[in-house]
Amino acid sequence: MDLQLTGKVALVTGGARGIGRGIALTLAGEGAKVAIDFASRADAAAEVVRKIEAGGGEAVAFQADVGRYAEVDRMVGDVLKRFGRIDILVNNAGIVSRKPILEIPLEEWDRVVRTNLYGCFHCSRLVGRHMVARGGGGKIVSISSIHGRVAKANLGPYCATKAAIEMFSKQLAVELAPHRINVNAVASGTIITEINLPLYQSAKPEDVEKRTAVLHRVPWREIGQPEDIGRAVAFLASDAARYITGAVLYVDGGYTADGTPRLPSGAQVP
Ligand code: NDP
Repeated sequence: MDLQLTGKVALVTGGARGIGRGIALTLAGEGAKVAIDFASRADAAAEVVRKIEAGGGEAVAFQADVGRYAEVDRMVGDVLKRFGRIDILVNNAGIVSRKPILEIPLEEWDRVVRTNLYGCFHCSRLVGRHMVARGGGGKIVSISSIHGRVAKANLGPYCATKAAIEMFSKQLAVELAPHRINVNAVASGTIITEINLPLYQSAKPEDVEKRTAVLHRVPWREIGQPEDIGRAVAFLASDAARYITGAVLYVDGGYTADGTPRLPSGAQVP
């Protein structure tokens, strides 16, 4: 792709691992300079920086918990000091909790909402203010999930925050359109990252059964890679998507399109 991102500055939250890493590498591959936010894994962030530099790109790692406004404020200031501007913000940092709504401890509910939803709000507000003040537009892309639209048992706060991110994104798109700032969301399907790698590498019969069930639920019959999300983000971060704002782009191998019941064999019920 030549999306003409050369010279653009991108900030990717949670950019050191998993999908965020794939997004950071894809944007760097398109010529963007990348600020990589991480929460705790400085080692992983340093590895991404090294990989981008080895490919002739420019990247710097910055620590900040996106759920804490003061930390995001400090980080955005540091990124601006280092690069002078931010053209692209990718709200990727996110966590999951797997407990029923009636049982989840209140602190755990708070942690998911704080990271996923407040994180998106904190970063969008502070970077959005910078984009408006400097003029010339900008791009904000937030990573949602198929589970912002389709419920999954025991993922209560996760699903609720992802649905909220999508509406937040539409709202911000409307407010920032006069400033030519595009705001969109990418709703990701199941992607192989550290969260689920053990399941996909395991030879245990019960794990093989689980991943077969996941694969049969996806019409494309493949689990996605971080770069699949990276390429969708790079498109939305480019002027090829000039007139796209307030949209939710599903990158899920057809998961949310398909309501077909399937037998345990994977065959569809006629
Ligand atoms: P990982 O667990 O592999 O990575 C999560 C990343 O988020 C890490 O880089 C982590 O930083 C960062 N992070 C977590 N909490 C914070 C915080 N408070 N402040 C800053 N950074 C934080 O997850 P994925 O790559 O799988 O997920 C990335 C995004 O994609 C999430 O928003 C997730 O909901 C979404 N998604 C993932 C899917 C999947 O199948 N994997 C499917 C649909 C959506 P650190 O390394 O420093 O801990």
